[in-house]
Amino acid sequence: MFRLMDKNAAGAAAQLILELLPEPVILVQGRDGEAPEIAYGNQAAREVFRIELAGAPLGAALRRPEVLEAIEGALATATSAEVAFETIGVQPRFWRAFARPLVTEDNDPRQLVVVLRDETDARRTERMRADFLANASHELRTPLASLAGFVETLRTHAKDDPEARDKFLGIMAQQATRMARLVDDLLSLSRIELNEHIAPSGKVDLARTVQDVSDAIKPLTAERRVSVSIEPGPDVGSVTGDRDQLVQVIQNLVDNAVKYTPAGGKVHVSLQAAPNLEVARASSRGGFGLSLLSPDAPSDGQAYVVLRVTDQGPGIARQHLPRLSERFYRVEGQRSGGTGLGLAIVKHVVNRHRGGLTVESAEGEGSTFSVYLPAAAPSS
Ligand code: ADP
Repeated sequence: MFRLMDKNAAGAAAQLILELLPEPVILVQGRDGEAPEIAYGNQAAREVFRIELAGAPLGAALRRPEVLEAIEGALATATSAEVAFETIGVQPRFWRAFARPLVTEDNDPRQLVVVLRDETDARRTERMRADFLANASHELRTPLASLAGFVETLRTHAKDDPEARDKFLGIMAQQATRMARLVDDLLSLSRIELNEHIAPSGKVDLARTVQDVSDAIKPLTAERRVSVSIEPGPDVGSVTGDRDQLVQVIQNLVDNAVKYTPAGGKVHVSLQAAPNLEVARASSRGGFGLSLLSPDAPSDGQAYVVLRVTDQGPGIARQHLPRLSERFYRVEGQRSGGTGLGLAIVKHVVNRHRGGLTVESAEGEGSTFSVYLPAAAPSS
């Protein structure tokens, strides 16, 4: 309830609010002929600058010369100033300082309020967007350059050579398919990201979905002479999910497993019920498992369904594991022919489902990718 407060109470409340603001706020006092000092710093400011602020020279908290210069300039002219700067440490952070002259009752013109805004996350997102755009353009440009090259060859040297023409047209068709796949994956990823914050509400029978995906990739497994076995597991109910997106998850994991398993090898897909997060996360091979995604605080008593895809491929060296679900990341020396977006799509879909993703792999020992998803409440 809102109540009018007397002046003292309002002052005390204002001070408390200032103290509790999540952004660092400092009050700077200008001094004749001397460096300005800090008259007050709220809790966030004291934590960020790790010093007892009152009475400290401004330079002890804000060391960057461009920031000191801007603030001293604002003090001298009693005007506002704004300056962006970076603090260097184990993790560099980007800040923007807003200085405003404070006109107080005693009319001291030499006081400034400086509010600091942490812009690190915004900068990081900005950089990721720029990197993503550069990577996506690069990925598209490579097949495009190859297409343009073949068009030129077909127009000139290979003009009257039907054998070469057939061969080049074949490669061109492959490159065009690759570009189309890349565009499809990029669109898919952006659609998933758009509603990633809205958890799906449908009910999906995972055992059935796994069977459908496995039927759909029969031509690929036959071509590669890889067999896929499915272990549906006892008591595995449905999960809360979006069927089309879960088809993509299963398909990408099984496709990779089949792609990396040598001819004559086996891929094993299993489903298991887990009564809680701890069991869902547990390693399946007893070795080193790395979590690529885990859900934030699920509600108590949430059960999960764990999907594991195990292959007999070359395995993945430990140093690559943490980066596998980054867009366009590929293990060096592996020519997957894929888009490098498959696992990124898996991660974003699973994140939307409030589930988790784990990889267990070592060189020469194949790989197991596990996805766990919240089980749907049994229908009464
Ligand atoms: P791609 O389309 O290149 O397969 P992914 O995002 O699905 O893209 O996978 C990223 C990279 O992770 C692959 O290029 C490959 O180096 C590695 N990788 C993924 N799955 C496996 C697997 N089952 N066995 C070995 N390496 C894998």
